[in-house]
Amino acid sequence: MLHSHRRELESVVPAWSRESVPIVAYDFPARFEGPPEVALVAGIHGNEVNGPAACAQLMSCLASSPHRVRSRIRVIPLVNSLGFDIGRRSWPVHNVDVYEQFGRVSEPNQGAVATSPQKLAAAVLTAIDGAQLCIDIHSSNRYMREAPQVRYYEPSDASLAAEYQDLSRRFRLPFIWPKRLEGAGGFDREAPGDPRRILSTVFAHRAALVGRRAFAFILMGGSSERVNKGVCDSLLRGIDAFLTSLGMLSAPDSEEACLAAGTLIPMSRDRPVPDEPSRPIVVSPDNLKHVLSQIPGVFMSHSPVGGYVASGTPVGLTVDLTNALEHREAVEKGGWLLSLRVHPSVYQGALIARLVDETQVLTEK
Ligand SMILES: [Zn+2]
Repeated sequence: MLHSHRRELESVVPAWSRESVPIVAYDFPARFEGPPEVALVAGIHGNEVNGPAACAQLMSCLASSPHRVRSRIRVIPLVNSLGFDIGRRSWPVHNVDVYEQFGRVSEPNQGAVATSPQKLAAAVLTAIDGAQLCIDIHSSNRYMREAPQVRYYEPSDASLAAEYQDLSRRFRLPFIWPKRLEGAGGFDREAPGDPRRILSTVFAHRAALVGRRAFAFILMGGSSERVNKGVCDSLLRGIDAFLTSLGMLSAPDSEEACLAAGTLIPMSRDRPVPDEPSRPIVVSPDNLKHVLSQIPGVFMSHSPVGGYVASGTPVGLTVDLTNALEHREAVEKGGWLLSLRVHPSVYQGALIARLVDETQVLTEK
């Protein structure tokens, strides 16, 4: 069913091989002409598998409900396919993070693109050029699990920031995390970890260069290396709600129609988080609390990611097996559990949870 939607963008040849690796996009409606209006990108980090899984579900849904598609939607479900094959975050050749290549290839006509991950990044940017909306899907690392959330880099322009805020709510995900991008101007290509190297900001920056209004969001949920059904379910619902609210998809026939159409993996009908907040909670530097392990050892927790942890409640238990110590990692103030440690090995001071303090949350909307 998906074959008629497939479009091979380009292929890259990794350094060790003569075999090329195709970069594949899927277009809805099939084989449309001109630039896409919406671009969904996943699998830039090869070990973050919730994004490709959510895209597979979404594509299955769109292919079986073509009457719903009201805009030109391009999905690139698996950018770093070599990393995916071996469960690695980076592009395996030279261990290069594809994410960090976007800033390097951000400017048109900058000469030859040298390496295969740079060619990969350039091909993605070319394929999504012209879109008004870019949605890039990620997961946490193997140590932490994230509640389903939408992130974006907050522009300094106030009216643009307000539009971002409005759009971010349309995903109907439990958390919204606007991030400040310090400093204005161009890209610092040499600064390691410069957030402007990443796809979402490069996309917005490029669009701004040609005077086009465009918005880029990062969807995040779960941990790396495994598919979390509840997270995929939540992201799929979120993307559907977002595109439907903007008229880019028509409303599904019933609330579950889209999920029912997704047949690749059975999806849960349950809400992913039983007690998730009834309205999106906006994360800010003022209300975000980091909980750090008080002792080294084995950390265990049954706290619900995305749910509420009351003040004085242990978020988990750490047991030091060497010195026969145990510590209940209680939280002083209650909050919504945005992220939780899922890898049990902790050192003293390791991050075990991120909580959003509800009393600090703005009560607008
Ligand atoms: Zn990632």
